[in-house]
Amino acid sequence: MTERTDLKTIAAEWLADGKADVLIGWQAGTLPLAAAPLILHADRSGADPAGGNKDKLVFDARCAMNLVNLLHKFKDKKVAVVVKGCDSRSLIGLIQEKQVDRDRIVVIGAPCAGVIDPSALARITGCDAPSGATLEKDQVRVVCDREEKVVPLSEAVYPGCRGCSVRNPLLADCLIADPVEQSAAPEAFGDVEALRQMSRDERWRKFLHEMKRCILCHACRAMCPACYCRECFADITRPRLAGRTADPADAMFFHLLRLMHLAGRCTGCGACVRACPMGVDLRLYNDFLRAFAKKEYGFEAGADAQAPPFIGEFDQNDPNDFTM
Ligand code: SF4
Ligand code: SF4
Ligand code: SF4
Repeated sequence: MTERTDLKTIAAEWLADGKADVLIGWQAGTLPLAAAPLILHADRSGADPAGGNKDKLVFDARCAMNLVNLLHKFKDKKVAVVVKGCDSRSLIGLIQEKQVDRDRIVVIGAPCAGVIDPSALARITGCDAPSGATLEKDQVRVVCDREEKVVPLSEAVYPGCRGCSVRNPLLADCLIADPVEQSAAPEAFGDVEALRQMSRDERWRKFLHEMKRCILCHACRAMCPACYCRECFADITRPRLAGRTADPADAMFFHLLRLMHLAGRCTGCGACVRACPMGVDLRLYNDFLRAFAKKEYGFEAGADAQAPPFIGEFDQNDPNDFTM
């Protein structure tokens, strides 16, 4: 059974006893209902490890960012990282791909009932820019034009959080709260099936329509733990492979190649979707790939740290019908 502990206590303990050189968690953000990463460094001088900043650590429904993405910055250090269930899948994916050494990571598991989706909240309250907002245990209190509106937390979370089957981290050395109830039903991939049923032309038109909104800011790539190439094809300039103009063909090229690179690797953590300033429906296309890998190959990215990565396995019985 995974040890149950308090976040601030374990942060102080692990930074003091050398179990971790760095701890990555969340702190309250500067905007209401937002949280930002907090990176604490061990102080071996005998002073308070993390210089008292550990008191800023928080975990609640504001903590949407996938902190696993920050592990790439601390490759030579022992790192403690706080993960939600979906983040733990990203971590497992990186361990499978040998991008993270399990022996230098200590995992603080954060059972999670969902994180706040600002666009859902705006839709429910009819208010894009609230003058104030507070998170309470099971509800969010929003002030719009001096009027207070109360929204149940379960309605204000991302759609993917509602049927989430990994609310309790799949990999953790300790837990900072009791496990939460999670959806027992396997992921339905309902809209993926609808996409599959469309004709090729319809699918292409839908994709084009979606891509017209993309401004090629690359925020989705920046926030994706699986996008860790030192040089991305989209940044290569000699020769230039991918354009970065307002022509939707450039957005289509970028996303088609990125999707190919993520096939069997995307864990569905949703970090890219949350990062997109234009609300591009990347989730549908990521889920399309995840559903395909699951159905055709029985493979789920980020499910088993011991399993070889999707592209790294060879089966003697594979029909190889695509080779000459
Ligand atoms: S997908 Fe699951 S683990 Fe991730 S934030 Fe939503 S409820 Fe939490
Ligand atoms: S593509 Fe998006 S959902 Fe998939 S692993 Fe990257 S950030 Fe997560
Ligand atoms: S974050 Fe959104 S707008 Fe930016 S490149 Fe990705 S899909 Fe396009």
